[in-house]
Amino acid sequence: MSYENFTVETDADGIALVTWDMPNRSMNVFTDDAMAEIDRIVDQVVADDAVKGVVFTSGKKGSFTGGADLKSISRMFSDFAAAVGENRQAAIEQLFERAGRMSWLWRKLETCGKPFVAAVNGTCMGGGFELALACHGRVAAESAVMGLPEVKVGIFPGAGGTQRVPRMTDTQEALQMLLKGAPLSPEKARKMGLIDQVVADGDLVETAKAMLREGVSPVKPWDEERFKLPSGPVYSPQGAKVWPAVSSLYRKETADNYPGARAIVKCVYEGLLLPMDTALRVEQRYFTEVLQTTEAQMMIRSLFVSSQALSKGARRPKDVPASNLKTLGVVGAGFMGAGIAYVAAKGGLNVVLIDQEQAAADKGKAHSQKLVEGLVSKGRMGQEEGEALVSRITATTDYAALDDAELVIEAVFEDRDVKAAVTEKVSAVLDADAIYASNTSTIPITSLAETFAEPERFIGIHFFSPVDKMMLTEVILGEKTSDKALAVALDFVRVIKKTPIVVNDSRGFFANRCVLRYMNEAYDMLVEGVPPAMIENAAKFAGMPVGPLALNDETAIDLSLRIMKATMRDMGDDAVDPRHFKLVETMTSNGRLGRKSQKGFYDYPEKPAKKKLWPELKQMFTQQDPESIDFEELKQRFLVTMALEAARTMAEGVVVDPREADIGSIFGFGFAPYTGGTISYIDGMGVKKFVALCEKLEAKFGERFQPIPLLREMAEKGETFYQRFQPADSQAQAA
Ligand code: NAD
Repeated sequence: MSYENFTVETDADGIALVTWDMPNRSMNVFTDDAMAEIDRIVDQVVADDAVKGVVFTSGKKGSFTGGADLKSISRMFSDFAAAVGENRQAAIEQLFERAGRMSWLWRKLETCGKPFVAAVNGTCMGGGFELALACHGRVAAESAVMGLPEVKVGIFPGAGGTQRVPRMTDTQEALQMLLKGAPLSPEKARKMGLIDQVVADGDLVETAKAMLREGVSPVKPWDEERFKLPSGPVYSPQGAKVWPAVSSLYRKETADNYPGARAIVKCVYEGLLLPMDTALRVEQRYFTEVLQTTEAQMMIRSLFVSSQALSKGARRPKDVPASNLKTLGVVGAGFMGAGIAYVAAKGGLNVVLIDQEQAAADKGKAHSQKLVEGLVSKGRMGQEEGEALVSRITATTDYAALDDAELVIEAVFEDRDVKAAVTEKVSAVLDADAIYASNTSTIPITSLAETFAEPERFIGIHFFSPVDKMMLTEVILGEKTSDKALAVALDFVRVIKKTPIVVNDSRGFFANRCVLRYMNEAYDMLVEGVPPAMIENAAKFAGMPVGPLALNDETAIDLSLRIMKATMRDMGDDAVDPRHFKLVETMTSNGRLGRKSQKGFYDYPEKPAKKKLWPELKQMFTQQDPESIDFEELKQRFLVTMALEAARTMAEGVVVDPREADIGSIFGFGFAPYTGGTISYIDGMGVKKFVALCEKLEAKFGERFQPIPLLREMAEKGETFYQRFQPADSQAQAA
């Protein structure tokens, strides 16, 4: 029998080696065709008496599977959306069967009567790992990475993941793994009992075959009569210890904002009370329910579909040939420059890192050395790989070393004159084709480009700190920035494996504009006398990863003061609320600059003591009675003020693609991910409802909540942002 995506070779011992290797794709994904072929393969090996067992592996180097296929998922959603209006019940039943296809197929494989061993040769996430768990044995290569990350895109492992994991490992560990969605190293997976053996990459298939020769039962433990759950039955003294803690952990981690996470807890709890086949159907019912939630649809769209599209260069000008980046120049080896040098060297580029003094340049390079040592000591990077990374960075004061750089990024002090002087020095040595970028956070790119002879070759590449951790980069177009400069910037962002958004020039670009609104709203609440702890908690319950006061301490309160002063200088005194100015000035004049001075809105005692809100903050303003404060409204204020700012950036043409506002807000400042981002938050509730919410807040808290004309117009027409600003390259976006 022949297959398009698989080869099946049976050896003299009767072991069939199934190798998954999809033609013309760099990764194997679960397309409808691939699934149909797996189904046929199971039938084939069951029917063939010569086959005693099966090894299932992938032919792609370093990857078992890339997971779900975007097109199949989009089709499933659009078919459901089309059918649900006609006959809701039939549409839901169809969704149940379609989404459940993978679950039924893995169960078929699991109960087919012949033993399957998964040979996991590389990245194996989501449905791929669920396939491996359905096999009767699992061997992983040392370099493999595995996990069930579905919760991160708003859903959950709905192909048996919530049932098999807690039948193989301790309930608490299983729940942690499912709720966090974090990747597992092979060793960790082995310790949890999810992998049987971890072997050198080259020994993988042979070890899997040897396992089968030695005997692997084709019947799973949970299909045997006397199966015992690893943590004991749910209704048992052991279970009574686990489950009460689970609900409080779940609430603490998610604030009950994620239907996918809620369903995981329910699936595990209910599923462990049932035999496997019934448990899988219960899991599938929850899965079908979760798929219909706004949260799942928005999260899948932003965090799965859009983030991949943007990372792959959705906004890259198509007719500019691929840039062959080899050397990056970085001028300014401070906090940001050192981080940029690290991510570039990690991406394989040679880096010339320049500062005024050799000692400063060396210090910048030492940052990479330190990060590498940390990774090597945790076993997350090989010694040699780490040494090679650091050796790619040349720390110098000599601008002449920039002569063969294809791209130079300036990250010197945030001062026009300093930047202009550096630009002059770079211009003197820069190759005529090279692109020059600034990492400025506040100075308009168009004005900086004027100091460069060819503004077409000038662009903004704005990083977020800490550079090695933050996934977003904002690429900013000056008025004259060419397509070539944009293409090079995006090619660079791809090399360093970050996600870019492309925005037009504006004060604060995109992310900082929204973040400032977040912090300003907290200032307003402080001034109104809302207790500081309530402010921080409301933000976290709204889904923000860090409270606005804690965030302000991280970004530094003196920086907020400097931004306010610059805004007043450029736009007049009225541009800043005098109560905010007074608050920030009082904090800074008392030396409360934020974490860097160990005191800001919080006090930062020596570790291991934890930070705590500065008690005197409460005394600065007359406190309201907490009972009289509407907590839900506090949550709304945070999300609405940021979403409204994002809508303004779209109305002004600063952001032109709603996917970028969504991804920029989640990756840049952690905007409540369950919403799908600032714009999906509006689309998700409907523009009409959002306008009404703005009006309610405007009546109570003032003009800053006034809906902009674009929103009113869209509300009138019943439009969504994704319809009105439909991204050119996607059919899957309109929802
Ligand atoms: P920093 O003070 O840590 O580093 C600036 C570095 O530039 C210093 O090492 C300094 O010696 C060097 N420098 C100054 N003048 C120079 C010159 N003439 N030639 C060569 N080197 C020179 O500052 P930073 O926080 O890294 O910020 C750098 C830039 O990045 C600024 O434009 C800032 O607005 C922007 N930025 C900062 C952040 C942040 O969170 N800190 C985030 C995004 C963007």
